[in-house]
Amino acid sequence: MQSALVLPLETFPQGLSADPECSSNFHPHLRLPWPRQQCSRISKTPLPMSHTYAALAASKSGETLDELLHRAFGFSSFRINQEAVCHASIEGRDVLLVMPTGAGKSLCYQLPALARGGTTLVVSPLIALMEDQAAKLKALGFSVARIHSGLDRTTSRQACIDYLSGSLNFLFIAPERLRVPGFAEMLAKRKPSLVAVDEAHCISQWGHDFRPDYRTLGQHMPALRPAPVIALTATATPVVQSDIVQQLGMVQPACFIHGFRRDNLAIEVVEVVPSRRSESVCSLLASVERRPAIVYAPTRKQADSLAVELSQIFPAAAYHAGLDPERRDTVQKQFLAGRLQAVVATIAFGMGIDKADVRTVIHTALPSSLEAYYQEIGRAGRDGNLSRTILMYSWSDRRMQDFFFERDYPQVDVLDKIYSKLGKGPRQREELRESLSMDPDTFDKAMEKLTIHGGGVMDFADNASAGPAAWRTSYAAQAERRRVQIELVMRYAEASQCRMSALVRHFGDTADGQRACGVCDYCAPEQCVGRRFRTGTGEERATVQAVVQALRSTLSRSTGKLHKEIFPREEMSRNDFEDLLSAMARLGLIDIEDAEFEAEGKTIVYRKVTLTTKGKNLEQTMPLSLVMKQTVVTKKSAALSRRPRQRSDKKPTALTQQSSSAPDLRLTTSGEALAKRLSQWRTAEAKQRKVPAFCILGNKTLRAIAHECPTTDDDLRMIAGIGPAKADQFGEAICRICSGVLPD
Ligand code: ADP
Ligand code: MG
Ligand code: ZN
Repeated sequence: MQSALVLPLETFPQGLSADPECSSNFHPHLRLPWPRQQCSRISKTPLPMSHTYAALAASKSGETLDELLHRAFGFSSFRINQEAVCHASIEGRDVLLVMPTGAGKSLCYQLPALARGGTTLVVSPLIALMEDQAAKLKALGFSVARIHSGLDRTTSRQACIDYLSGSLNFLFIAPERLRVPGFAEMLAKRKPSLVAVDEAHCISQWGHDFRPDYRTLGQHMPALRPAPVIALTATATPVVQSDIVQQLGMVQPACFIHGFRRDNLAIEVVEVVPSRRSESVCSLLASVERRPAIVYAPTRKQADSLAVELSQIFPAAAYHAGLDPERRDTVQKQFLAGRLQAVVATIAFGMGIDKADVRTVIHTALPSSLEAYYQEIGRAGRDGNLSRTILMYSWSDRRMQDFFFERDYPQVDVLDKIYSKLGKGPRQREELRESLSMDPDTFDKAMEKLTIHGGGVMDFADNASAGPAAWRTSYAAQAERRRVQIELVMRYAEASQCRMSALVRHFGDTADGQRACGVCDYCAPEQCVGRRFRTGTGEERATVQAVVQALRSTLSRSTGKLHKEIFPREEMSRNDFEDLLSAMARLGLIDIEDAEFEAEGKTIVYRKVTLTTKGKNLEQTMPLSLVMKQTVVTKKSAALSRRPRQRSDKKPTALTQQSSSAPDLRLTTSGEALAKRLSQWRTAEAKQRKVPAFCILGNKTLRAIAHECPTTDDDLRMIAGIGPAKADQFGEAICRICSGVLPD
C-alpha cells in the first residue's frame, strides 16, 4: 500500500488567481498554472520560449502529461505519485522527493524537464550513475551531455559550448565540478530551466553517505535561480530532509515522502546469541520455500564460513569485497540465474541487483543503521509475494557497534593534534604523520575525518594544509549522529511495536506510520519462523495484574522504575520483565514508547509504559491469553546438524511457517463450502482494511479453520496460525461463520 505525504499543503502556487495579469499564463492545453514568480519574471525579462513548457505544448499542441509520458518515455501510465510530483515541478515549485530505490524517481525530474523546456541541470554524485542515466536518455533521443572527471577536456568543453548554445535537454555534472574556478559562473550565463539534485541525502552530514563536495552545492544555487530545484533521494530521515531543504535553499518545497511501506514483507527480529546464529540460519533456510535467500553477515570471515555451512545443504556462496571482481561477478550471475540459492554477503552485495523472487533476507548481526537495514530487507519480495526478513541480534552486537564507532570516530583531540601541525603551506602527508609519531591506522582515520570536515585540505600531490577551524562543530555533530544511528537500531530491535510502521515512521511518513502491518513479529507472532513463543505461566499472569495495578495510580512510568517497584529484589530479571511488558503491549493492555530526558547535558533514553483503556478495564478474573517470547531460537535441528551432507528440502523441525505452497488439507464437501465462505469474508475484510488477503488469514490457516470448524474462541485459538492478535481481531466473525455451517 502506498501513501503520500505532501507538505506544505498548497494546492496552487501563491497568488495565482489573485493576480489578473497572470491569468493568461494559465496554459490552455496543459491546464497547468505558472507560478507567480515566473509570471513577474516573464513580464520583466522575457525568457526564451524554450524555457517554458509552452514551447513544447505549442509544438505538440494540446499534449497532456500522459501523452508526453507515452511519447517521450514509452510508458503507458504514471506510477503512484509520479504525476503529482511532476505537476509540482512543472509548476515551478521546489520539490523534495523521497521514495525508495526503484520507485521511479528519475522520471519525476525528466518529464518536468521536457515539459518545462530548456536545459535541465542534473547534479549526480556517482559517475556510473550519471553515465547510466545519460545513456538511457540519449537512447530515447534526447540531447544529453555530461561533465565529470572521467571525461577528457575536449568532451567537457564541447558540453559547455552545447549548454551555452541552449541545444541540450540535459546536462549532467558531478558536484566537484562546481569547485573548478569559473564553472558555476559559466552555468549561470544561461540559466537552466530546472535543477535536479540526485542522491540528495549526500548533501547532509546527517545522511549515511555524506559527501563534502555536495555540501558546497548550496553556495551555487542562487546563481542558478530562478530555476526550480528538485531534490531526489531514497534515504532521508526527517532530519536529513530538513537539512537538504536548508542546504539547497529550497523555497516552500512540496515534499513527497512515500512508498516506504512494503506489504509483503513479514519482518521478524529475534534475539540470538552469536554462537547459535549460523545454526539458526541453516535451520531457517533448510526449507526450500524460504529460498532464494540473501544473508548479511558482519565480516568477510563470517560470510565465508556461513557460506560453507550452507553449501552443505544447498548451493550457496559468499560475496564480499575481499573476493576478486571475477568471482563476485560469477556469484552475482549465478544467484540471478537461480543456480545459487543463497548468498552470504557483507554489505557490498545487492547494490543494483534486481532479483525479484528473494524469499528471505537474514541479518546475522545488528546492521549499522536503519537506513542500511531497510535497503537490505527491501531486496526481498520484489515480485510482491510474501517474503520474510529476520534480524538476529543480542546485546553483544551493541558492544560491537560501539567498538566500530570508537575505531571510526577518533576523539577530537587526536584530530586536534594533527590540525595544530597544519599551516597555510602544504605539508607532505607522510612527513606530517612521522612528526606526530602516530600509528598509520589512527593517523589515516583522523586525517580522513579532518579532511571531510574541512579542517585539513589535501592537494593532488597528497600534501595537507590547514582549513578553517569550523571542522570541530561539524565533526562533533557527525559523530553524534552516528551514535544516534546505532542507538536507533538497537531501540528498533528491542521495541514492542509493529516493525513496518516503525520503519515507515523512521523515514518520515508519520501518517502512514500509524497503520500496523499485520504480518510482522509484533502483529502476527504466531507466524514467526525464528522467534518462538509460549503461553504465559500463572506467575506471569499475576505479574500482568501487578503491572496494571501499579500503573493505575500514575498511568505512565519508565520500565526501569516499574521493574524496581514490582520486583525490588529482582525476583524477575529485568530482561524477563521487559519481555512480559512486550507481551502486554501485544495484548493491547499497555503502550510502550521511547522517551528521553536531558541530564547533565546528556540525553538519556528510556522506555515509557502507559496504561491503555483496555488495560484500565482489565479485571482480576479476566482470562488472559498471554503469549511470551522464548529466548532460545531454534532447537538444535537434528536433521541438519547430524547429517550435514544431506541435501535437505525438508521443512526444518522446530519452525512454523506460512507459505502459499503449504500442503493442502483434504476437506469434506461442507468443509469446502465453509472454506469458500471464509475466503469470501477474508476478501471483504481485506478490501475494507486495504491490506492483502494474507494479512487477514493465510491460506493454510483458512483451510485449517474450515477443517476444524471452531465455534468458540478457545477452539479457534487451538488452530495453528491463530494467535491472540488474530483471535481478538477476527475471532467473533470466524466463529459466527463457522456456527452457520454444521460439520459432518
Ligand atoms: P529510482 O531512481 O527511484 O531508484 P528509477 O528512476 O531508476 O528509480 O526507475 C526504476 C525503473 O522504473 C526504471 O527502469 C524506469 O524505467 C522504470 N519506471 C519509472 N517510471 C515508470 C513508469 N511510469 N512506468 C513504467 N516504468 C517506469
Ligand atoms: Mg535514482
Ligand atoms: Zn506489524
